[in-house]
Amino acid sequence: MPTEGRSTLTSLTSTTRAGQFCDHVNPVWGKALRLIGFDKTYVRALGSSLWDDEGREYLDLIGGYATTNVGRNHPVVREALTEFLASEAPSMVQFERSALAGEVAKGLTGRVGRGLGKVFFTNSGTEGVEACLKFARCTTKRPAFVAARGGFHGLSTGALSLNGCESFREGFGPFPETSRFVPFNDLPALERELSSGDVAAFVLEPIQGKGVNLPAPGYLAEASRVCRRHGTLFVVDEVQTGIGRTGSFLAIDQEGEVEPDMVVLSKGLSGGYVPVGAVLLSDRVFRAVFSRLDRAIVHSSTFHVGGLAMVAALATLRVFDEERLAENAKRIGGHLREGLERLQERMEFIREIRQRGLMIGIEFGQPKSLTLKAAWAMTHALDDNLFTQAITIPLMEDHRILTQTAGHGLDVLKLTPSLALTVAEADRFLKAFEAVLQPLHRFPGPGWDLLKRLAANAIRRDAPTTSTTAPPCPPKANEPGYTSLDG
Ligand code: PLP
Repeated sequence: MPTEGRSTLTSLTSTTRAGQFCDHVNPVWGKALRLIGFDKTYVRALGSSLWDDEGREYLDLIGGYATTNVGRNHPVVREALTEFLASEAPSMVQFERSALAGEVAKGLTGRVGRGLGKVFFTNSGTEGVEACLKFARCTTKRPAFVAARGGFHGLSTGALSLNGCESFREGFGPFPETSRFVPFNDLPALERELSSGDVAAFVLEPIQGKGVNLPAPGYLAEASRVCRRHGTLFVVDEVQTGIGRTGSFLAIDQEGEVEPDMVVLSKGLSGGYVPVGAVLLSDRVFRAVFSRLDRAIVHSSTFHVGGLAMVAALATLRVFDEERLAENAKRIGGHLREGLERLQERMEFIREIRQRGLMIGIEFGQPKSLTLKAAWAMTHALDDNLFTQAITIPLMEDHRILTQTAGHGLDVLKLTPSLALTVAEADRFLKAFEAVLQPLHRFPGPGWDLLKRLAANAIRRDAPTTSTTAPPCPPKANEPGYTSLDG
């Protein structure tokens, strides 16, 4: 009943209830969020803005780990979903030919082209990667997979076996010997690995999300040729880079003659609302997997063409076109880059700016001046993850801007905001970033006080083993904060 629906939501958004997260969901994450001052309770979201339960507005440059490409609560997506719910249309019938799924698939294949005429829908990026692994084995009759070091393809067992980030693998091995790695951007290594003749698929992100590592010119096109030469399928994981993130529908659209056998999408396709993913595949792969009537659903999952997911995807594609989001990503990304390059001239901690559309990594490096160099070395001797947290924490605390580090042990600040980001919002970040970075260029000085506190906490780093009933609260002035927020 409508009244019940309203009261359910009201109770869920209260701060006290949010405190129960630590009791029943994940106390370790709850503690980490509290230490870095990210333990807010958000009650409203629109575009790139979030509002907490005290009415404070925040600029969100994490974008739900790159899911909010169209911006949060976009009216077109919201209206489509509301309309679908009000229409009493069926969902999860299973034994039906879903018109909505057909429409989304047509939209995707039309935009991607490259002979990838079929779409297998999933509920997440990980599920898409898992599907590709099965499809590749089935098509090639080969056992092995190759991925790039430093890559991220998800955390389920198969995807994790190809996850090139050690921090995620720890404690979950052993991993099969059929999952192997080559360095990113290393074509001779790829050639050597594939020449063994047992590799079903090379799975690769066009831009590595961890670290925002860009492909060398020509790498992706040549990698796809190497795969073809050795009979290995080329799986391009565009879960993070797809749906306009880098300034084109796919990141490989800017990379010349790349011929993937499968492309994985998810995140941005959701409209920021409903989990959805899609694997685009060639007819050859499709025919090998779904080869007979009794194999028509040999790979599937219960929710994979759910009505809400399909509606969200359809509306998202519409907004993508109507608002020319790829162009905006290119324009605003370029604007941010110019601003960051101007800052780089004055800020010796900025080593490199890696940017494609609105996927941006700002790498920090050892400064030149002697005192700063010593301070940098000391911080890194204590813990590799600290320095960037000394940027993300004050950006949040003093400027109410959400940003994240780009992975364990990397001095990279990462931005993946909504693709509808405005010039004013980009300038707000640039100004805040300068204000946060400037004090770190004086040692000793106020910028380093936070680092000292972070370092102290790094030394006695621990994870809570008991639950806490404490509601979320901001870090106290004398409480050190540390975590390696990832994405
Ligand atoms: N592939 C890439 C490139 C990703 O960035 C991610 C998630 O961050 C995944 C796969 C896994 O997607 P999901 O979290 O939707 O399962």
